[in-house]
Amino acid sequence: MAYDWLKGIADRYDAVVIGSGLGGLTGANVLAKCGHKVLLLEHHYQLGGLATWFTRKGGHIFDISLHGFPVGMVKSIRKYWNQDIADSIVQLKGIRFINPQFQVDTTFDRADFSRHLIETFRVAPDTVERFFTDLRAMNFYDNSTETTGEMFDRYFPGRDDVKRFLMEPIAYANGSTLEDPAITYGIVFSNFMSKGVFTFRGGSDVLIRKMAEELKKNGVEVRKHVIVEKVLTDEVDGTKRVTGVVANGRTILCDSVLSNSNIKNTVLRLAGEENFSPDFVALTKAVRINSSSCQVYLGIRKGETLPHIGDLVFTSDAKIFSSAELVDLHTSSRTFSMYYPDTRPDSTRYTVVCSLNATYSDWNNLSDGQYQQEKERLIEESITVLERFIPDVRVKIDWKEAATPRTIEYYTKHWAGTSFGTKFEGLKISMNLPAQLSGLYHAGSVGIIMSGWLGTINYGVIVSNQMDKFLHQKKRATAAPLAVQ
Ligand SMILES: Cc1cc2nc3c(=O)[nH]c(=O)nc-3n(C[C@H](O)[C@H](O)[C@H](O)COP(=O)(O)OP(=O)(O)OC[C@H]3O[C@@H](n4cnc5c(N)ncnc54)[C@H](O)[C@@H]3O)c2cc1C
Repeated sequence: MAYDWLKGIADRYDAVVIGSGLGGLTGANVLAKCGHKVLLLEHHYQLGGLATWFTRKGGHIFDISLHGFPVGMVKSIRKYWNQDIADSIVQLKGIRFINPQFQVDTTFDRADFSRHLIETFRVAPDTVERFFTDLRAMNFYDNSTETTGEMFDRYFPGRDDVKRFLMEPIAYANGSTLEDPAITYGIVFSNFMSKGVFTFRGGSDVLIRKMAEELKKNGVEVRKHVIVEKVLTDEVDGTKRVTGVVANGRTILCDSVLSNSNIKNTVLRLAGEENFSPDFVALTKAVRINSSSCQVYLGIRKGETLPHIGDLVFTSDAKIFSSAELVDLHTSSRTFSMYYPDTRPDSTRYTVVCSLNATYSDWNNLSDGQYQQEKERLIEESITVLERFIPDVRVKIDWKEAATPRTIEYYTKHWAGTSFGTKFEGLKISMNLPAQLSGLYHAGSVGIIMSGWLGTINYGVIVSNQMDKFLHQKKRATAAPLAVQ
């Protein structure tokens, strides 16, 4: 008989969290600290969602998305997780750009970017100052329709090289394009520029294990290998509300659900169209999905070493930056994340993860044979490019494999294999969810600014605070008649 991954759980919870991405984990932790009874369900055998890792023969540990995040993580982690986790956040200083337009080494902060814009790109100092100051002042509630591309043209007309320098790293980090609202670029870019790029020393495995320990300490019931198939609802006095979930074929009752699944999955598959107004369903269907990713994982044989060639190396053979080239099946734009032994201080091992942005349909439409061939091509091209920096790297590699948008879909269940959630309009759907279906909340990558490690953690906090209010109101309403008796 199959193992019962839900063995021993309670019949009823205040909140069920669907998914253990950083948004789901953080939401669950905040809710538990507020005193609610929380069950977190993850379909994968590993927690963390995209912020996860895997191991391979030869002693390799590969991180999926531990490439870099803004300094804001230190505060968010300290406040909503603990000091111990925050203490392992360290800066990455070796960021490199190598493409036909320029070669730049930078610490990726405002001072160094300003220096490069003025000295390397010869932009007037007052333009640079104005650009950074204006961006910093951008506000989520600003009602601007300007696109990122239009904004660059306003400050740096005709400067494709400057556009690439400013845009390429952000496009890799969250799938944004020149057509997305300037505000989404401005907020994310300013977050990075405040102090540079940071990482978690110890690797995703240590981070997620520490988070799991904290969840346990705070009383969250965490179950892996459990897929939520349906959110259950009923209707009281014309108001639809959440009553539970069906997970691994079993009904679990709850007063609220925090879905960390993709917002389109949440509305159209998990809850179902019947629970929302036709307008809301139409708006949800119209939400555009963000792009996806491919990755090539290269494991370096035990005992071998690599020279320090930078921490994040942005490379491309494309003559100019274009959002379309970045997601093309045959893109030459890729980022190498170099994991030296200091990533995991207890280890002497090196790994390289090469990330490329990608379009789901390009990969999903391939036959099985073509799919294998394209993955082989991706691996081969990535090693060939890496040989430009480390000529003898090929003989040092004893593990290589590729992941594609199909892999992301398989492991996260995300709509169209998206690795960066949805475009801006997804945020409105996510935020308006409880007004449509009482007790249903969503925290996950939407609208670019609520994406990435920092964005999803912060969004998890915002939404779980709303849930806390809702649950307290509900508890008060249920307790009131008893108090009168
Ligand atoms: C290649 C790549 C590189 C990246 N690089 C960076 C970077 O350098 N910096 C940065 O800040 N961000 C980066 N990101 C983005 C970042 O990893 C994500 O934005 C963030 O981790 C997403 O968190 P999330 O909370 O939205 O949930 P996700 O990580 O998307 O997790 C959602 C979880 O829900 C689970 N789930 C879904 N449906 C169900 C269901 N029905 N039942 C049970 N479980 C379910 C999934 O299995 C998954 O575990 C990168 C992403 C990728 C793919």
